[in-house]
Amino acid sequence: MNVDLHCHSTVSDGWLEPDAVVRRAHANGVELLALTDHDELGGIALARETATALGMRFVAGVEISVSFAGETIHIVGLGVDVDAPGLRAGLELVRSGRDLRARKMATGLEGIGFVNVLEGARRFARNPALVSRAHFARHLVAIGVMPDVKTVFDHYLVRGKPGFVEHEWAALEDAVGWIRAAGGIAVVAHPARYRLSSANMDALFDRFMAAGGEAVEVVSGAHTDDEMRRFATVARSRGLLASRASDFHGENESPVDLGRCNPLPSDLLPVWSRLL
Ligand code: AMP
Ligand code: MN
Ligand code: MN
Ligand code: MN
Repeated sequence: MNVDLHCHSTVSDGWLEPDAVVRRAHANGVELLALTDHDELGGIALARETATALGMRFVAGVEISVSFAGETIHIVGLGVDVDAPGLRAGLELVRSGRDLRARKMATGLEGIGFVNVLEGARRFARNPALVSRAHFARHLVAIGVMPDVKTVFDHYLVRGKPGFVEHEWAALEDAVGWIRAAGGIAVVAHPARYRLSSANMDALFDRFMAAGGEAVEVVSGAHTDDEMRRFATVARSRGLLASRASDFHGENESPVDLGRCNPLPSDLLPVWSRLL
């Protein structure tokens, strides 16, 4: 089965509306899709309705921003009840810091000579509660500062650069707890992307599992083949369920399109065995 359990719409920092994400996934042959916008469930109803009309399976998802060992970690929740009050309140709290952070990012970038960057970033953000670094990056590309979003991140938006602002997201245990209380399965998203020492990576999985987390993205659009093999080993040795996820944001920004990632190594237990 072609399964894709991580992607974004305009409700967070994707380029396509939720219904367009679903239609593109369907056209690409996806048979089970999860929409997982950052810290926000606002796209689920339209995505689900569109999937139903196309006869495609769909599960509600979310990608929660977490602070752990000085890094931002992303925890995906799959199969969550979008009406669960704990999850809704938790996500609202996570989102609430974004506006102030965006203003501080703009101040940092204005300090090196840019003007009106907050307005610029907001023009790319369809959801005013969810201004992301990706929206700043798109604005800086649009005004011709840098050739592409990745280069903007490297020069302006990562730690140590003028547009980076330290931010305290959710606690790991809280995010996993909200997902579980909403009936969902918690997944460590794209683990190879975190700058964690090997001791901290172990601690991340220890604490994630102690909190009730059950799965890891082994196949991710953000992973190389070597990274996939590394986290396949983690899934095997820890008995974690394995996920397959494009993390698609848009055509010109994402290395892997919806449904086009590698297959999961065949000996791993797919997380979707619990979602069907
Ligand atoms: P934020 O949640 O506002 O910190 O934004 C994080 C988002 O920015 C991620 O979900 C990606 O979509 C994007 N992003 C982060 N790092 C990079 C990078 N190095 N290159 C391109 N996009 C990135
Ligand atoms: Mn994103
Ligand atoms: Mn992520
Ligand atoms: Mn993502």
